[in-house]
Amino acid sequence: MLIKRFCPRCGKETSELIRGFCRECFLKGHEILFVDEELKFPRCKSCGKIRIRGAWFSDSLKNLEDFIRSKIKLKEITGEKLNIGMSPNSDGSVSVQIGVSGKINEDKIEFEKEILLKPAIVLCDPCMRLVSDYHEAILQVRFGKKPSNEQVESEMARISKMLEYEKKADSLAQAIKTTEATNGFDVYIGSAKAARRIAEALAKRAHTRVVSSSKLMGVDSNTGKANKRFTYCARV
Ligand SMILES: [Zn+2]
Ligand SMILES: [Zn+2]
Repeated sequence: MLIKRFCPRCGKETSELIRGFCRECFLKGHEILFVDEELKFPRCKSCGKIRIRGAWFSDSLKNLEDFIRSKIKLKEITGEKLNIGMSPNSDGSVSVQIGVSGKINEDKIEFEKEILLKPAIVLCDPCMRLVSDYHEAILQVRFGKKPSNEQVESEMARISKMLEYEKKADSLAQAIKTTEATNGFDVYIGSAKAARRIAEALAKRAHTRVVSSSKLMGVDSNTGKANKRFTYCARV
């Protein structure tokens, strides 16, 4: 004989009771999923990266999912599985469906919650530094004699393209300013690593070698590390 089971609170007949109550009544008395209904994610207005657990990452759905997971807390449930669905809206926000499944003691439970993700416009740390003229390196591009405008433009186009590529991994890979010099020009670049790589590519193309030097700018009071500015000279 099949024993009928009822929820003692609402009277609903169900075989799936959770600690003796139906799912709805159980969820009314127990909060399991803790997450803000409206979540703000910090997004850099200059490079578009988003901040997750204190570090900056590219703005992709996978990284947004990581961000959401970092903001979710679960209680009472064991063997939990989270299923996150996202649909971007035209205003830059993202509608998020969070599906939760797992067990409360020996009883299975499954439910959903919908939240809204909204970008909070900020400036990431590397972009903030660049705004204040921060540069780790000067890339000197030198021609054998005074270059024509076309020569300068074509080298600049090459440099911009390489910076664009480097910037994907390193937000500091940006040009702060460009100045004219005898028989060439100087580009002030946020990232020393990117500047060195670009100088090497330009020199290699012209079958020359990069001449590099560095200048001590001081010592970082927090890390104790020497703060250097590098100069990379490429003859093209
Ligand atoms: Zn009930
Ligand atoms: Zn940025």
